[in-house]
Amino acid sequence: MSQPILLITGGSRGIGAATATLAAQQGYEVVINYRYDESAANAIQQSIVAAGGKAHCVQADISEASQVTEMFSLIRKKWGPIQGLVNSAGVLDQQTSFVETTPERWQRIFQTNVFGTMQCCQEAFQDMARSKGGQGGSIVNVSSLASVYGSPNEYVDYAASKGAVDSFSRGFALEVASDGIRVNVVRPGLIYTDMHADGGEAGRVDRIGPNLPLQRGGQPEEVAEAILWLLSNKSSYTTGGFIDVGGGR
Ligand code: NAP
Repeated sequence: MSQPILLITGGSRGIGAATATLAAQQGYEVVINYRYDESAANAIQQSIVAAGGKAHCVQADISEASQVTEMFSLIRKKWGPIQGLVNSAGVLDQQTSFVETTPERWQRIFQTNVFGTMQCCQEAFQDMARSKGGQGGSIVNVSSLASVYGSPNEYVDYAASKGAVDSFSRGFALEVASDGIRVNVVRPGLIYTDMHADGGEAGRVDRIGPNLPLQRGGQPEEVAEAILWLLSNKSSYTTGGFIDVGGGR
């Protein structure tokens, strides 16, 4: 049997990269999407191949609608329709109070976190839906516990974008369930990745982690485990669901 093809947006670093590595170990043929950092994407791809897995890299900025369309056409042409999709690409901006933020910043954040995710889901539907001749599939959207607590004085706009991901995922899951597609959400809490440096505080996880119920920040691999469970048939009766991976946050 051929290996299921799994596309991971933002698969070059952080949670996406950990998911790519674990997915390849579990038998997926992984397509690693990245935006700028080609060398990081290549490094993950090469480590997967060196371990005997199958992986490819595809550059596309998912905040650009035309690039998403082109990415899916290229994947279909080169490797065939996807059976799995993980929307991990996400951005935030400098920590500040909401009143200091601008519509340009909100637009930039929503364009990747919300519209990019939504468009990738729409494209995946074309590959997966039984009514379109597909075999069904599983989609995992990486949201954030920020959608629940709102990230005051840090990035309320980012939290709002993840709230949109949560609502979208729930509605989309219910629409496509009869087409053999499951859609679920993983909401990480504080995870050791480069993202916190993008918000202006590289040491944020070390600062807040000890105050959490589990008394530490999480590793990307711990989030990847939840994502892989939701992708797999082990979660065959789960759709429109949420797994919080936040150390009790
Ligand atoms: P990260 O280490 O900063 O990695 C972000 C990844 O997304 C990179 O591969 C980056 O590619 C890619 N990316 C960003 N914008 C993109 C775009 N427009 N098009 C295509 N790729 C794009 O982030 P992370 O911490 O792993 O975050 C992954 C997801 O988890 C995000 O959705 C984030 O909101 C969520 N999350 C993270 C945490 C945490 O504590 N880290 C907590 C809650 C939720 P390039 O390097 O090529 O730009």
